[in-house]
Amino acid sequence: MSKMITAETLFRARIISLILTNDAEKALELLSQHYKVVRPKLKVGMPKRYSKKLACYVAKKQTIHVSCSDILHNPHVILHEFYHHLRNFTDSQRGIEKYADKFAKDYLNAYRRIAASYDLTRMELQ
Ligand SMILES: [Zn+2]
Repeated sequence: MSKMITAETLFRARIISLILTNDAEKALELLSQHYKVVRPKLKVGMPKRYSKKLACYVAKKQTIHVSCSDILHNPHVILHEFYHHLRNFTDSQRGIEKYADKFAKDYLNAYRRIAASYDLTRMELQ
């Protein structure tokens, strides 16, 4: 392999894998340990004023809300909202949407790198 896979890349890939396999709670626990922040709460069901959104983060309650349980295994959405939690915790801001998306994309890219390094399309299955 030409490029080293770092511990950080493996960590990010693991987070995505946990969310995809429907363990967003565990992913949030590990993310919170990693960034040394309090673990956010996770709830299915939106507060009224955000009822048209897929997901949101309510800073006052340190809670990530998702509109339905399907969203719990959407890594982009979970990581996007975790970014808002992280920013709220570290500097009392929500952070910019663009950066929340980038945060999520960096994790997804790490997952793709790991998946590609195993070349799952060529792996022989028994
Ligand atoms: Zn956002």
